[in-house]
Amino acid sequence: MEPQERKETGDDFKKQILDLHSMLEIGKTLNAASLSLKNVLDIVILTCYGHFHSQDAVILLSTEEGEKIYFSGEAEKKKIFVELTGALESFLGEKERVIFIEEMKEQEGIVKAYRLFMELGFTLIIPLRFKDRINGLLCLTKKEEAFGDEYTEDEKRYMVIIAGFASVAIENARLYEMATLDRKTKLYNHGFFANRLTQEIERAERYKTDLTLMIIDLDHFKNVNDKYGHMVGDEVLIAVSKSIKKQVRGFDVPARFGGEEFTVILPETDTQSAQIVAQRLRNAIKALVFTTPEGTFSIAASIGIAGFIHESTMTDNILIANADRALYHAKEHGRDCIVLHSDVSDPTTSDSVES
Ligand code: GH3
Ligand code: MG
Ligand code: MG
Repeated sequence: MEPQERKETGDDFKKQILDLHSMLEIGKTLNAASLSLKNVLDIVILTCYGHFHSQDAVILLSTEEGEKIYFSGEAEKKKIFVELTGALESFLGEKERVIFIEEMKEQEGIVKAYRLFMELGFTLIIPLRFKDRINGLLCLTKKEEAFGDEYTEDEKRYMVIIAGFASVAIENARLYEMATLDRKTKLYNHGFFANRLTQEIERAERYKTDLTLMIIDLDHFKNVNDKYGHMVGDEVLIAVSKSIKKQVRGFDVPARFGGEEFTVILPETDTQSAQIVAQRLRNAIKALVFTTPEGTFSIAASIGIAGFIHESTMTDNILIANADRALYHAKEHGRDCIVLHSDVSDPTTSDSVES
């Protein structure tokens, strides 16, 4: 063997070790317990950009609708839906492997999927398998020109490894979301809220920081159901939830408390600042306009706010009861307003209502 050749072999070997090392690191990151589905997808996509130098990478996730399974996702702001038909399922096969889009060309029953993938510029897809089903497709366009024409054999092998990590991470993230998110509104559910409140109270006690709880209740929501139907009622709950999510900060915890009631935990926030947030929220909810065949309407909300008090008798249940008491006061005083528990509990300011 020439010295030059030996050197190349050594370099290749080193590169492979480095590549495997980074695959392991990516695997470890993807298996971190608290990753959201979005985090998982972002890590996989960034790996495709950074490691394989793909021009673009998209993950289509499987979703069940009735009897059918779809792969859905978004590429360049365009929504993508591909039905998993029997023909597509048998084409994708049972093994994790890289599939060239060109392989789909002559296959019966998958022309529609082939055309769509071509249109989107995909050149490779790797099915993401979990147990006996496919929970997604990793779709890659060609490489950045500066990095060569074709993906190398090593890169294709690594893609399969990443796909294996990704499918487990996606499944974990989905299970975690199912356990912690409210199905209808995609806000955190009551169980998650209760756990987080306990944790945040412990944190506030330990570090002597502020903590505020807000309960939001839609006004006369029953009328919406009665007048426009339950489906419209659901749309209102979904739109209000999106609006709440948009108005609060990343470390605030918005949840669906139940029915048409929502809570927001505001760590490291005093009641005065929480009042500003509540005002913003109340305005945002009020600004939503719902159009139905029976007419156009909007909805108002009442909000109760209670701050954590650094006393030994304070518990999560007392904090909830205090916010609820303030909310009750808001309802009693004409609705569509914000009430602080400290105002209603202090006889000198017992009628302080902001509207
Ligand atoms: P108030 O101003 O006193 O809060 O009046 P309200 O009508 O909002 O309160 P009430 O408790 O009388 O009614 C709440 C309604 O919310 C009744 C219930 O059917 C409806 N609701 C609860 N959960 C859902 C849901 O998931 N979807 C729909 N569409 N309605 C729901
Ligand atoms: Mg209610
Ligand atoms: Mg209500």
